[in-house]
Amino acid sequence: MIGDPVLRERAREVTSFDRALRKLAKHMVRVMRDAPGIGLAAPQVGVLQRLLVYEIDEGEPQALVNPEIVVASAETEVGEEGCLSVPDGRVPVERAVRITVRARDVYGEPVEFEAEALEARVIQHEYDHLEGILIVDRTTREARAATLRALREGVPPVDGAAPARLSGADL
Ligand SMILES: [Zn+2]
Repeated sequence: MIGDPVLRERAREVTSFDRALRKLAKHMVRVMRDAPGIGLAAPQVGVLQRLLVYEIDEGEPQALVNPEIVVASAETEVGEEGCLSVPDGRVPVERAVRITVRARDVYGEPVEFEAEALEARVIQHEYDHLEGILIVDRTTREARAATLRALREGVPPVDGAAPARLSGADL
């Protein structure tokens, strides 16, 4: 959850593309689907490694290891995002509409591709987790104040209750 220091640290590069890594990715896909959400980063399950998973098309989960966003479009879009690690935190976040991503798969093979719209948003959201950045850092000042107020007042988490698949990122 938001107070967890792991969520505020920069995750470390993955160096061994072994069974443990693939097991972790599988575990994360399960956690993501159970939430339900459409993305998850390793620090959210307490593992400070540069691994994220997401699933835009049902039945086709993707795992990116050591991802880099090498190009981000100047064109941006504001959309509502929720985060499994930030209870009651559906807030507007501005993201690049298109990105080029370079990463490795769970076997260590290099991949590079372009993503846009929701896929680009999810990757940017999860990438932020690897950098220790949360949506409360990205949103407008007003929305941020409201979110922090709700957290202080102990409003129960709504993650998963929202129409998760339509907008946000872990979302
Ligand atoms: Zn998140």
